[in-house]
Amino acid sequence: LPVVIIVIGMAGSGKTSFIQRLYAHLHAKGDAAYCINLDPAVSSVPFPANIDIRDTVNYKEVMKQYNLGPNGGILTSLNLFTTKFDQVLGLVEKRAPNLKYIILDTPGQIEIFTWSASGQIVAEALAASYPTVVAYVVDTPRTTQPSTFMANMLYACSILYKTRLPFLLLFSKTDVVSHDYALDWLQDYESYQRALARDTSYSASLANSMCLVLEEFYRNLRVAGVSAVTGQGVDGFLEEVEEGRKEYESDYRPYLAKLA
Ligand code: GDP
Ligand code: MG
Repeated sequence: LPVVIIVIGMAGSGKTSFIQRLYAHLHAKGDAAYCINLDPAVSSVPFPANIDIRDTVNYKEVMKQYNLGPNGGILTSLNLFTTKFDQVLGLVEKRAPNLKYIILDTPGQIEIFTWSASGQIVAEALAASYPTVVAYVVDTPRTTQPSTFMANMLYACSILYKTRLPFLLLFSKTDVVSHDYALDWLQDYESYQRALARDTSYSASLANSMCLVLEEFYRNLRVAGVSAVTGQGVDGFLEEVEEGRKEYESDYRPYLAKLA
């Protein structure tokens, strides 16, 4: 069975660029990947999308028709698309025997996928049939502030507990800033606290306590760093995806069986 990779992250974190790089990398190796674009508001998709939400719903028309702003338009587009997700599953199923990966790009506004019924339906429907991992993209150059880092890790943590799927932190844009600082903070909370002591932002004392709480979360976390520009780290990412697949088999599948 192919592995589903759901790529989630804040707007501009590098999801789409990463998928473009990942697709090219897999293609060069001869590994078949099936790409699904779920971002209705993107102007162009730089990877070959086998399924594109924009073929089904016109986000600008949806905004007009329902008198919505941009976020409401994206959410409603995703909802409309999700009502036909059984057809998507049918298409995927036909191709699945020949695929190694199924890759999902998600809307720029992260909460539209992570906190909507549609996002949950899409993730659960795929995870019911295929090993599925969530790759949470962190913008490495923009997360070097200890307080920003903490906010991002809390968000990651909330998504992990919401989806329960194998989870991967993917530090992007490592050609700009290496993710070494993040690895250091994830492995050593004292190092994080030292960095925090130099950060005078108001939330420093909260973050100081939170890093102790999150230690447990960090310990079970898979981490990769990639550059969509140079391709650095893509193989490491795929190794972590493989570990995620194993975790799916050992933890998520039995959890599904219990629900059934
Ligand atoms: P998305 O909104 O998460 O899909 O992010 P995009 O893939 O559209 O990227 C947002 C911006 O970051 C774009 O200007 C990209 O060119 C830039 N970007 C993405 N990945 C990288 C990377 O690995 N290195 C560098 N230097 N820039 C990147
Ligand atoms: Mg994008």
